[in-house]
Amino acid sequence: MIKEYQNLEVWFVTGAQLLYGGDAVVQVDGHSSEMVAGMNASGLLPVKVVYKGTANSSSEVLDVMSRAENDSRCVGVITWMHTFSPAKMWIHGLQALHKPLLHLHTQYNKSIPWDTMDMDFMNLNQSAHGDREYAHILARMRKNHKTVVGYWKDPETLGHIAVWERVAAAWADSKDMRILRFGDQMNNVAVTDGDKVEAEMRLGYHVDYVPFSELMTYFDKVSDADVDALSDEYFKEYSHSAELEDKGSEPYRKIWNSAKAELTLRAILKDKNAKGFTTNFDDLGDVNVEETCRGFDQIPGLASQRLMAEGYGFGAEGDWKSAALYRTVWFMTRGLPEGCSFLEDYTLDLDGQNSAILQAHMLEICPLIAADEPKLEVHHLGIGVRKTKTARLVFTSKTGYGVTATIVDMGGRFRLVVNEVDCIKPKPLPKLPVASALWVPRPNFEIGAAAWMMAGGTHHSCFSYDLTPEYWEDYSEIADIEMIRIGADTTLEGIRRDLRINEIYYLLGKALK
Ligand code: MN
Repeated sequence: MIKEYQNLEVWFVTGAQLLYGGDAVVQVDGHSSEMVAGMNASGLLPVKVVYKGTANSSSEVLDVMSRAENDSRCVGVITWMHTFSPAKMWIHGLQALHKPLLHLHTQYNKSIPWDTMDMDFMNLNQSAHGDREYAHILARMRKNHKTVVGYWKDPETLGHIAVWERVAAAWADSKDMRILRFGDQMNNVAVTDGDKVEAEMRLGYHVDYVPFSELMTYFDKVSDADVDALSDEYFKEYSHSAELEDKGSEPYRKIWNSAKAELTLRAILKDKNAKGFTTNFDDLGDVNVEETCRGFDQIPGLASQRLMAEGYGFGAEGDWKSAALYRTVWFMTRGLPEGCSFLEDYTLDLDGQNSAILQAHMLEICPLIAADEPKLEVHHLGIGVRKTKTARLVFTSKTGYGVTATIVDMGGRFRLVVNEVDCIKPKPLPKLPVASALWVPRPNFEIGAAAWMMAGGTHHSCFSYDLTPEYWEDYSEIADIEMIRIGADTTLEGIRRDLRINEIYYLLGKALK
């Protein structure tokens, strides 16, 4: 069981009715129990499914959906209509449920029992039309949900449920998402800004400003012994040159101060029950830090890298939307092998055939995506309020398929922009010792980059090798926000049309809900 999901549940509710008598419902109940037990035993579902019985009337549906809505362990509800379940009885319950909803269209028996099937069997195994009656009310109510169709034992069917479970778990996590901002947005930057009130209403993010003076009260409480211990841990964990361990040297002092920054940030994040944070390289505390020793003497890049790997959301330059979305990516991908990171479009390699984008940041890339062991290094960094030697982990990313995503505020609504990409092997960067990835957006650089920009996508994004567009389709459905997907089949004509149609949908379509 994945640690982050172990206290979470997905509820399974079977629709039936009493038309065929109590005996039929008893059989339906038995089948449902067996199916849920089998789904849990498959090992393919990351969140435990809990069977909550049959719902046979409007009041029973309302009761179970209200309980699901109020139970903090429940992150979503799977519904299945074993028999015909007249769908008006679902209206009040569906109105009471705001958590993620999945409609599973399946059947207890895999095949038609041609030789033995009689009318009793027919009455009992009616999901072929019961699920259509139920699906009609979902469509009629414009109820956001995911539809999964297939035999309940098939790995492919369970795979679609597993994706939704991960997204539902991350959605529950984001409903209690406090992001701390150390400093404001980088001045004049548009795309990292946005409506924090709308973000809390729509996405669950609670975004707080923390003045640096308050951060320094945590800084002051960090003990030298703890900083020594963490510095030693760095030296054990990462390969590094011997001079870094020379305690009289400037590089050692930079490593030590980085460890102190990490301990400071972790302390305030834990104390305030926050899941992510932002920094601003123009705001690092006292400008006379070399004399006062109060403040960060360098961008806390190494700290940000390590805190990201630990699951804290991070956004550079005050980018709280990316900080929150990274936390969601990290939470969705628990137990998956390949890793995730905050990234930034940095430099283009316009080779004409396979043009690519170098993804990096000044320093803050998560080591979960590293191809090899990250190297601990200290180099001069000539940007921001401190132009000084700065500690960082240096690596290049794995190669292979991944998906990157961002959320932008379009004024009146959020838009999720998603791009499938292929990470390729970069050449060495001897003069740019930072962590990086090199990718080609699908369908190719020219169309992928153009589509991303037409959609207003950021230069920051949240990337994972373990996700597919299906995760983001589920996420946008649950969050009820617009999604623009850029992938192998994308054309600029199609993107332009989607963007225009979406403007109408979000102006007028919402009126029908
Ligand atoms: Mn940036």
